Amino acid sequence: MNRNYGIDIWGDDNFIIKSSTVRVNYQCQPSLLEITQNIRKQGYKGPVLVRFPHLIKKQISTLYSEFNRARKEFEYKGSFQAVFPLKVNQFPNFVNALMDVSKEYNYGLEAGSKAELLIAITHTPLGSPITVNGFKDKEMISLCFIASNMGHNLTITIEGVGELETIIEVNNEFNKDSKKAIRPKIGVRIRLHSTGIGTWAKSGGYSSKFGLTSTELLEAYDLMEKHNLLEELWMIHFHIGSQMSEIAPLKKALREVGNIYADLKNRGAYALNAINIGGGLAVEYSQHAHSKEINYELSEFANDVVFLIKEIAKNKGIEEPDIFTESGRFIASSHSVLIAPVLELFSQDYHEKSLRLKESNPPLISELYDLWRELNPSNAQEYLHDALDHMESLLTLFDLGYIDLEDRSNTEILVHLIIKKSIILLQSEGTQELTKLQNKIQERYLVNFSAFQSLPDFWGLQQHFPMMPIDKLDIEPTNPATLWDITCDSDGEITFDDNLPLYLHDVDVTKEEYFLAFFLTGAYQEVLGMNHNLFTHPTEVVVHFDKKGNYYLDKLIESQNIMDVLGDMNYDKSSLDKTLKQQIEASERISKDKKSDLLGKLYLYLSENSYLKTIQANNEEQ
Ligand SMILES: *Cc1c(COP(=O)(O)O)cnc(C)c1O
Repeated sequence: MNRNYGIDIWGDDNFIIKSSTVRVNYQCQPSLLEITQNIRKQGYKGPVLVRFPHLIKKQISTLYSEFNRARKEFEYKGSFQAVFPLKVNQFPNFVNALMDVSKEYNYGLEAGSKAELLIAITHTPLGSPITVNGFKDKEMISLCFIASNMGHNLTITIEGVGELETIIEVNNEFNKDSKKAIRPKIGVRIRLHSTGIGTWAKSGGYSSKFGLTSTELLEAYDLMEKHNLLEELWMIHFHIGSQMSEIAPLKKALREVGNIYADLKNRGAYALNAINIGGGLAVEYSQHAHSKEINYELSEFANDVVFLIKEIAKNKGIEEPDIFTESGRFIASSHSVLIAPVLELFSQDYHEKSLRLKESNPPLISELYDLWRELNPSNAQEYLHDALDHMESLLTLFDLGYIDLEDRSNTEILVHLIIKKSIILLQSEGTQELTKLQNKIQERYLVNFSAFQSLPDFWGLQQHFPMMPIDKLDIEPTNPATLWDITCDSDGEITFDDNLPLYLHDVDVTKEEYFLAFFLTGAYQEVLGMNHNLFTHPTEVVVHFDKKGNYYLDKLIESQNIMDVLGDMNYDKSSLDKTLKQQIEASERISKDKKSDLLGKLYLYLSENSYLKTIQANNEEQ
């Protein structure tokens, strides 16, 4: 495997490897190691989620500049606008950073629930677009009317005819006596015939949860006409599903929606002026050239959207509509990196120092020892076969009672050492046998994080996320690696996959720290993450750059402490507290003068988060 962990495939020039470390490719180019150590120096251990607002800004400005370039190229008259779908990341440190870096674009937010709507109302400046999608009840629609009364530029996307009937009802209540009606604008979501592609394709297609069929659309049109709401109908909306791996389904959907738009406009929907193409713009998560996830570039995406809509407008004799996008994954993924310490390597015992050779060893063991010492590139293959053969014989001898536990341990260690040495010696040959051997000697790295909390799409959908060590990158990593998280669940494991191999370094974590970084975790992972085993959202921090280009840490939020985690699960904290105190007070095993000492310790531990701090006695805190 290449020593750069595929950073040229997934990295988008956001990070670079310089000598031994990964650096942020911006301003003073701090290394991730330096940032991590800076955070840990302040006493925060366990995994940290590091946010980079400059990467949110980069995505937004890239999106705008590509669409504006395409508009210019095709002489497109409609404008381009984007909103961010809050379901992708609602965390305040993200949303505030997003709103801060997007000011010049009049960037808006998309909400799909009442709570998200509240974030949108309180975080967008008046005038920036708010779109409201998803299922809505009367209260939610009333909230939209209230926001419009505040002066917000809000569009309700109708997902079904029933919703339109509620809008009419709420409109009658809000605007009964007013001369000039104040109400939200209206969009309609189209139930597409075309479907998306990839893991998240369900959002499109006729069986999708969302949108109006042609028949319902005509019904809705008649209703809006009857209730004088056509003046608010200004947007057509569709969304073909997230992480669209190919461009073809989008083109098909655009033709479908473009023609629906034009027909509605020609039918008399005079205020219609925008097509919202939803999200779906994909992110390259792959670390290996043979497993890339996307077959198009943003420029092609923008060209296709602008060109196809222009063509339909021309053919149907209508004005070119404004184009809206609701890209979420594309905007948010790259901004955050999860960095987690490795706590332990499990086959560390398979070291020469653990051998317990005797004065006189069984002959096969002495032979294994010699094979290991004399291994060289020309004999490696043959010696390896001999070693595997000897191992079988030795294990049989153990079962029959001819050799003892120490001999068996020496066998395990020597064979392990031989396989490891041969892999290095035979690496250039890349035989199938080598691949199989790697599975045999993979090293298990215990990593201080929860896959359920921080990579839920890996757990649920086998979505791959780029991962790599943040240091030692000048040294060839030789251990085929399996990662174990610290949950007590065997699904919390990223198994070595010889098709997508991950190699890590042989380190002694009792002597030096070793951190792994997981990239592209900024979209969906944070809020989908679950508190399995009660590991909660990790400690997070925002990295800003000052005018001189130096970085500084901001808005650090520590992972929830143990008591608060339990409080969130509706345990009565004061009653837990009382019980703990009582049990210490009542215990006859603790002498009187020790009680307050133990209580103090207990409270200290309870004030900390669930992630591990230390695992080996001789180790510094992890
Ligand atoms: C989820 C969602 C999006 C965002 O999709 P991405 O693939 O993350 O860009 C956009 N619009 C709607 C309606 C959605 O439900």
